[in-house]
Amino acid sequence: MALNVKILTIFPEIFPGFLGYSLTGRALEKGIWTIDAVNIRDYAFDKHASVDDTPCGGGAGMIMRPDVLGNAIEHNYKGGKIIYMSPKGSPLTQAKAHELSQCENLTVICGRFEGIDERVIEEYGIEEISIGDYILTGGEQAAMIMIDSVVRLLPGVLGNSLSTENESFEKGLLEYPQYTRPIEWKGRKVPEILLSGHHEKIAAWQKEQSLKITKEKRPDLLEKSS
Ligand code: SAH
Repeated sequence: MALNVKILTIFPEIFPGFLGYSLTGRALEKGIWTIDAVNIRDYAFDKHASVDDTPCGGGAGMIMRPDVLGNAIEHNYKGGKIIYMSPKGSPLTQAKAHELSQCENLTVICGRFEGIDERVIEEYGIEEISIGDYILTGGEQAAMIMIDSVVRLLPGVLGNSLSTENESFEKGLLEYPQYTRPIEWKGRKVPEILLSGHHEKIAAWQKEQSLKITKEKRPDLLEKSS
């Protein structure tokens, strides 16, 4: 079962962009997931293909029109969740990425300007997802980040599925420090324990390091899990 992603955007040419590279790109070639970016302008009603208008009540910027966006949704929706990338949404977390990786169809709306008319969100029961507490110029960047986090969790995307298990956030902790060869570099040595070949001791050290780093860098993660 592939994950089919439909993107509604005024810049379809941005996709698949960086999702066409590396692991996500290979998975796309293998058909583990598909992406189809549709231009919202194709669903406009006037000859200028206008998708936005001034905000009711005044204020700066432009708002994406509900009739045009609604028309785009109704012509392209194939079931499943509809997501609007929005700074007002619930935060994208690893848990959310896992949830979305179970879906067969995702329709993702990328906002531009000052965002979309609120009635669209209500009309179609749209879920709003934010990638962080800052403002981007468009939802395309956010959509690509969200899709990247979801696609790498699909079966067959990462060569070694164990490799996600110990990653940051999977167990509510940040990942332990990682090293490779050379064993000594600029006078800095790889921690002795990692060269011991003693798997249990190594696992215990990694767990301890994970806890220590999480305490130092992201104490909020420990508070959340306790
Ligand atoms: N006026 C809006 C911001 C509009 S930014 C507000 O204050 O809430 C333009 C578009 O970029 C939005 O419609 C949204 O699709 C996208 N965007 C901006 N920041 C984002 C974020 N942190 N997460 C997800 N999408 C974001």
